[in-house]
Amino acid sequence: MSNQIRSIRGMSDILPEKTAAWRFLEKSVASVLHGYGYREIRLPVVEQTELFKRSIGEVTDIVEKEMYTFDDRNGDSLTLRPEGTAGCVRACIQNGLLHNQIQRLWYLGPMFRHERPQKGRYRQFHQIGVETFGMEGPDVDAELILMSARIWRVLGLDDDVVLEINSLGSNSARGRYRDALVAYLQSRRNELDKDSLRRLQTNPLRILDSKNPEMQSLITTAPRLADYLDDESKDHFGGVKEFLDAAGIRYVVNPCLVRGLDYYSDTVFEWVTEKLGAQGTVCAGGRYDGLVDQLGGPATSAAGFAIGLERLIELQQGSIARSEDDDQPHVYLIVSGDAARHRGVLLAEQLRNQVPGLRVQLHCGGGSFKSQFKRADRSGAEFALVLGEDEMERDEVGVKPLRSKGEQQVFLQNDVAMHVAKMVGLTD
Ligand code: ATP
Ligand code: MG
Repeated sequence: MSNQIRSIRGMSDILPEKTAAWRFLEKSVASVLHGYGYREIRLPVVEQTELFKRSIGEVTDIVEKEMYTFDDRNGDSLTLRPEGTAGCVRACIQNGLLHNQIQRLWYLGPMFRHERPQKGRYRQFHQIGVETFGMEGPDVDAELILMSARIWRVLGLDDDVVLEINSLGSNSARGRYRDALVAYLQSRRNELDKDSLRRLQTNPLRILDSKNPEMQSLITTAPRLADYLDDESKDHFGGVKEFLDAAGIRYVVNPCLVRGLDYYSDTVFEWVTEKLGAQGTVCAGGRYDGLVDQLGGPATSAAGFAIGLERLIELQQGSIARSEDDDQPHVYLIVSGDAARHRGVLLAEQLRNQVPGLRVQLHCGGGSFKSQFKRADRSGAEFALVLGEDEMERDEVGVKPLRSKGEQQVFLQNDVAMHVAKMVGLTD
């Protein structure tokens, strides 16, 4: 066992018992997004390192210490994407999707960050991300928030999550605020923890986001970003709040909500839960009007969010009905004797041909009736089809319910498809 190769720490296998729940989640979210006119875009997992440095920011946690960066064989520096926005913007610029156009896009896939693995924090994790381009008003910010709220409703999670919003203002307002914040923090330098001392030089706004209880009183009395916003940002934020009020969406304005990525401006939001312990943010996003321009595209308003799927799955534990499983067979075909084993392969094919959508699992590898019935039971199938020597002689097949009491019924092999289709509810 000592030379067994294991997965990379923080990168999990998603085993078959879990994949139905994932599929259900992905399908449910996609269907909400389609209901708002968003379309899927599929993006590479690897991008040039420079893309993330220029967008997320050189002095953010992600770029400073979390990226999986390596040299390609020809010496180019590449990085496994730590998030999806940068790649999405890159793709839109490169493919000319932003010239006088509105875009509403979504994507799904794995992201990679070299963080300390713990509950809710992994090195490979999955996000569904949404990005919009070409719309500058608070209406689209509100749309994003309403859409995420609908996702929680559809998933039955609306009681578990709370919306926090804030405005980061324009770049210039944030610059002025940054100076004031640094001056304040400098004056109380001796109260800063190690992390905050480092951030004081690089990314002081992130100090507001500190989870250290000893820092909280210092943070509470810090200058407020809200007092530095220009009128335009105030109006924009007011507009977002009006839409949310009108739509009956509850929210908390959290003046310390800053987000860990440099490209955000104006509206930012997070959906947080108390049910997952420390890693409680299930969805985060906001506006990033400067990013397209910064990455060499035409100046374009933009906003989006990303949902962390592992945290959602965790939150949903148990709330997915068994009936949502789409990977368990309807019927398990038991075969005994050489003739039946041959006939079984063809009968299974015949059933799949005649009843579209029917899931048939054929027993392969022999074994007694008893052991085959055990397998049938474990497969989750509703019915066992039994093809033994007696049935073969009479061109029949037995159908035995596995999940309810009831006698085995017998049908002609040529008719069984029709009966099975009815019994599993695929026809009336
Ligand atoms: P956090 O404050 O939790 O580190 P972040 O600001 O780094 O979050 P974003 O980049 O905004 O997170 O990612 C959006 C969402 O993706 C998060 O809210 C979370 O649900 C999920 N997420 C981020 N990092 C991880 C991770 N390492 N493992 C699992 N999920 C993650
Ligand atoms: Mg993080």
